Amino acid sequence: LLQLHSNTVRCFGNKQTKTREFNKVLVANRGEIAIRVFRALTELNKTSVAVFSEQDKLSMHRLKADEAYLIGKGLPPVAAYLAIDQIIDTAVKHNVDAIHPGYGFLSERSDFAQACQNAGIVYIGPTPDVMARMGDKVAARQAAIEAGVQVVPGTSAPITSAQEAVEFAKQHGTPIILKAAYGGGGRGMRRIDRIEDVEELFRRAFSEARSAFGDGSLFVEKFIERPRHIEVQLLGDHHGGIVHLFERDCSVQRRHQKVVEIAPAPALPAGVREKILADALRLAKHVGYQNAGTVEFLVDSKGQHFFIEVNARLQVEHTVTEEITGVDLVQAQIRIAEGKTLEDLKLSQETIQTNGSAIQCRVTTEDPARSFQPDSGRIEVFRSGEGMGIRLDSASAFAGSIISPDYDSLLVKVIAHARNHPNAAAKMIRALKEFRIRGVKTNIPFLLNVLTQQSFLDASVDTYFIDEHPELFE
Ligand code: ADP
Repeated sequence: LLQLHSNTVRCFGNKQTKTREFNKVLVANRGEIAIRVFRALTELNKTSVAVFSEQDKLSMHRLKADEAYLIGKGLPPVAAYLAIDQIIDTAVKHNVDAIHPGYGFLSERSDFAQACQNAGIVYIGPTPDVMARMGDKVAARQAAIEAGVQVVPGTSAPITSAQEAVEFAKQHGTPIILKAAYGGGGRGMRRIDRIEDVEELFRRAFSEARSAFGDGSLFVEKFIERPRHIEVQLLGDHHGGIVHLFERDCSVQRRHQKVVEIAPAPALPAGVREKILADALRLAKHVGYQNAGTVEFLVDSKGQHFFIEVNARLQVEHTVTEEITGVDLVQAQIRIAEGKTLEDLKLSQETIQTNGSAIQCRVTTEDPARSFQPDSGRIEVFRSGEGMGIRLDSASAFAGSIISPDYDSLLVKVIAHARNHPNAAAKMIRALKEFRIRGVKTNIPFLLNVLTQQSFLDASVDTYFIDEHPELFE
């Protein structure tokens, strides 16, 4: 068989870096994100490899790759996609050059990135040490402080005694927020408004965190009132080059989890945007960030911004950035991992411009009428919204598809792109209304309620929006 490998050595000052074009790339994930990556691989003329659990033997991602291999025999549904040894063995056996982790599962595990490297396989993401540093909230905060980026005032290490939380609240004032050190995905957070409640609520949060995450340690932070969640998309190459691809507004959240994402952030004053973008770049340069990543900030009502965390991976909402910049982030990730420079990819900061506005809705198989309980079963009828400016990223959105309770309930990401925010919202509303899904319940009625709120259309929402509008759940 024809080998398309090319090994070249480049010189950058005194640095020598190898570029190596991949033939075959394995995606250690499932669902829509696995298919998203396969599409990029096919466009780049590379062979795509899927891995699938026993529970996923009929799933679409298995069928969309050029090759597919069973992993995690006998393991529970999620554990299969966390079986590092089996995934690496599969990759080695089938001559895979690189592994893309998607989001979730192993995408934030520096030990997985290291295991790939040890097996001679390129991990499509940051280096293991940068992943480890960014994955640790204390170390990430420290890096931000070193880079001169303002962080949310908080304890500099996880604490285990209520007394330390009381001290913090006395010093910084209330409200404060407790966060489980080993939580994530919006879980394990609790706001406290009154100093006299701190002791009692700390104890409760500590024991909840211990049973939910195996360790009760908590961070204490100043609670930022009425914040917006603004995050910056970055790409860094292996040669010190780093660029931003502007920002997203992910303030529409339910229980601290993103529901609707917008790019660029509408109604963000230009001066604030500039500072946030510059801070994100400074932090990324400081840690030597490579590949795609996101720096997250909270912006208070006065326009002050505070670093919260770095996501050292591709995010669910990367699509809205792709729509407004025209840059295929997954292709960029792959080519950067091959050793290409941003210059090779024609991605200088000046050439990255935004065009219009994009909105993403996460359509899930959750029933808003039953407190968003995941629904499962067979989709009997499926018609989607289509037409100009609508993009759909999905794996299981079709008639006959079986929605299993084993995995996350994301059914389809609907992305609308138009010249400005109100036009993108109008397209999204129109597209969501075109959907007809029978057999499983979805959150589409809830999403329509959100999108038709005047404050959403005016782009004046903060993270309190959904909680303050109980009528959205009707
Ligand atoms: P996770 O890692 O669990 O996703 P994050 O730290 O990214 O948690 O926070 C998720 C969301 O929780 C934020 O977008 C915001 O809405 C809320 N949040 C987190 N920290 C604070 C804070 N200090 N003040 C106010 N809201 C916060």
